[in-house]
Amino acid sequence: MATYEIKANPSEAKVQQIHCPNCGSHAEKHYLSDSTLVRVQCSHCDYLMVTCSATGVVLEAYAPGIYAKR
Ligand SMILES: [Zn+2]
Repeated sequence: MATYEIKANPSEAKVQQIHCPNCGSHAEKHYLSDSTLVRVQCSHCDYLMVTCSATGVVLEAYAPGIYAKR
């Protein structure tokens, strides 16, 4: 039974290219349109941070420190 479904994914409204605060590589900042959440994720070092833009509260954060030593 095949269900064919196309999702527009309205929650991913805007994506901004930024520099990862953990490793300095290119990361993505996602602004979710249906909430006040802002998510920063880096595919190079698995850095992840979810903040609420209304309150500034960090809801989730993960920084693997593999690029930390210089
Ligand atoms: Zn990174």
